[in-house]
Amino acid sequence: MTAVVAIDGPSGAGKGTVARAIAEALRWSYVDTGAMYRAVAWKAQHEGLLLDDETAVAAVASRAELQLDSRQVAIDGHDVTTAIRTSEIDAAAARVARMPRVREVLVARQRAYADLRPVVMEGRDIGTVVFPHAAVKIYLDASPAERAQRRSQDSAHGLSKAGEIGIVAHALEHRDHSDRTRPASPLATAADAVVIDTTGVPIDAVIEQVLRIVRDRLAR
Ligand code: C5P
Repeated sequence: MTAVVAIDGPSGAGKGTVARAIAEALRWSYVDTGAMYRAVAWKAQHEGLLLDDETAVAAVASRAELQLDSRQVAIDGHDVTTAIRTSEIDAAAARVARMPRVREVLVARQRAYADLRPVVMEGRDIGTVVFPHAAVKIYLDASPAERAQRRSQDSAHGLSKAGEIGIVAHALEHRDHSDRTRPASPLATAADAVVIDTTGVPIDAVIEQVLRIVRDRLAR
């Protein structure tokens, strides 16, 4: 395993923007593990599989060719960069992510990325399960209201009107609950993670703070 910066936290905490910026600053690879669960959910639906068929979904996770970089996500040659950002896939990915056999396959694939080159990896269980010995662990959080606000501004969700924030907040709450209470690798904070509350903090300031922490830890 090469060096890993693990960035975990709930949805809407700013992980994606921060992890991308850190990877760029360090010139390391960037892996969005949420996109892996999303792509597998998309492919399972595309193949017409039932989303409660764990064996079949795990087989998809295991044999699919995944291409991930900071701009694009493709599975078996399909560019799914935008297709995996719908509210339907939000729900489908959360279901798929509850399956221990799917997690087992994707965690092995995530570990394999770090065999090749240093990586900034974002997700829910990177510092706790995937890389318990990561060089740096960051846990980003924000208030539920602010996370819903950020998500609703995310154009890929196609929701931008103030009146729709309530819908986003409700869906987010549901997904948070699923992520935190699932038996397999629930969202949790690693004991040695640096926890940063990004509520009310401009994203550039969060990036600066995380970059300082990362550079400081890597220099030790
Ligand atoms: O981060 P994102 O919203 O794209 O994640 C999609 C789904 O995959 C979420 O339900 C999340 O809990 C799950 N996930 C996970 N483990 C990860 C990354 C994401 O269970 N490492």
